[in-house]
Amino acid sequence: MVLKVYNTRTRRKEIFEPLREGVVRMYVCGPTVYDLSHIGHARSYVAFDVIRRYLEFKGYRVIYVQNFTDVDDKIIQRAKELGVEPQELAERYIREFLRDMDRLGIKRATIYPRATEHIEDMIKVIEGLIEKGHAYVVEGNVYFNIESARDRFGQLVHQSLDEMLDGARVEIDPKKRNPKDFALWKAAKEGEPWWDSPWGPGRPGWHIECSTMSTKYLGEQFDIHGGGQDLIFPHHEAEILQSECYTGKSPMARYWLHNGFVTINKEKMSKSLGNFFTIREILKEYPPMVLRFFLLYTHYRSPIDFSWDHLKEASSAYKRLKALKEILSRMASGEGGKDSKDDKEFLKALEEVEDEFFKAMDDDFNTRVAIAQLFRLDDIVRKYQDRGVRRKSWRRARRFFNNAMRILGLTFPRGRRSRGIERELIELILEVRERARKNKDFPLADYIRERLRELNVVVEDTREGPIWRFEG
Ligand SMILES: [Zn+2]
Repeated sequence: MVLKVYNTRTRRKEIFEPLREGVVRMYVCGPTVYDLSHIGHARSYVAFDVIRRYLEFKGYRVIYVQNFTDVDDKIIQRAKELGVEPQELAERYIREFLRDMDRLGIKRATIYPRATEHIEDMIKVIEGLIEKGHAYVVEGNVYFNIESARDRFGQLVHQSLDEMLDGARVEIDPKKRNPKDFALWKAAKEGEPWWDSPWGPGRPGWHIECSTMSTKYLGEQFDIHGGGQDLIFPHHEAEILQSECYTGKSPMARYWLHNGFVTINKEKMSKSLGNFFTIREILKEYPPMVLRFFLLYTHYRSPIDFSWDHLKEASSAYKRLKALKEILSRMASGEGGKDSKDDKEFLKALEEVEDEFFKAMDDDFNTRVAIAQLFRLDDIVRKYQDRGVRRKSWRRARRFFNNAMRILGLTFPRGRRSRGIERELIELILEVRERARKNKDFPLADYIRERLRELNVVVEDTREGPIWRFEG
């Protein structure tokens, strides 16, 4: 079966073919780390996690790059309010972000490049753009000259530059030649972080970091670029202009995938309207896997409406899958029947479900239709559980179910493991261990790790901080 993906660039479902055989190079825009992540983040990263998992299931090696925007107006503003250094604030929210992602079962990216660690690379790209006449310097700022890239504009919004200019409300900035020009480099302001550059002290604009880091880690052209629909304009259009003008190659990414919006009780999510939920708030009420299931029970491109009632429904549907898993494992390790007629019927029904499941996943990762097949499987299993189905057939059904769960990233933590306080205590212990490490008290840090190991908690130190899991 062939995989088809909906490409925002061509507005069509296309057969998926990576540029290099067997490898998928994929970039997904990461968060600006100034606060706890909200349900919109959960939706986007769960969606791209399943896309990645399905590609891996199909045998591709996936290189998944996701940036951290760790210098930005919002970070600087929030740090000022809290009286901390912007870098300290960013560091804290990178840790919080990864903690949320881990709990939602989202696999870690292959590489998490940070903007502040790629300033030199960005300067090089900006210099290249100035040299080629695509950017200009005004009083220590560098702007992208949008007029110079007129023919490359609109690959995602499917509108010409003029159409876009007519419709948009733009601020007039006397420094810019064209109001739609955007900053590649911003001159330093009093009390803000800055780096040296050929144009004086300053910091990079937001769009340039994704162009620079995607090119650096994935090459001038790669396979998938993902993000939320809200990033299409201006962010992704700007990325295309910068990258293509710099490298001279088009398209920058072959497939542009965008996930749909999240509304709250059918209204736009907004902090000022008070309908805004962090992942943390939701996980106080429901286990992470229920939230993950809820997000996957809608196709990733469709809008999704969050409400506590919808989450409650998702919770019972998810419990149905859990019960199905238990029946399957009981039947697969039981005696099994001997009625060949029952067995044949069961296998035929199972094959249909399997086909439909993979057909749905191949149809632009339609997890909604795929999950519906698992409920069909549940009906079949209940119908045949007291009949003559052979053990071998039950094992096949269990294998299919487990594969489906692996693709969807859904797990069924045992009761003991899902208790919130236990997780929070382990995280607290790890925070204490981190402090010991910072104070160079390595014997204490090692002792904590060893003792946790004895309790079946495996700790692994990564550049983004420790991660842990139950094992054994
Ligand atoms: Zn980006």
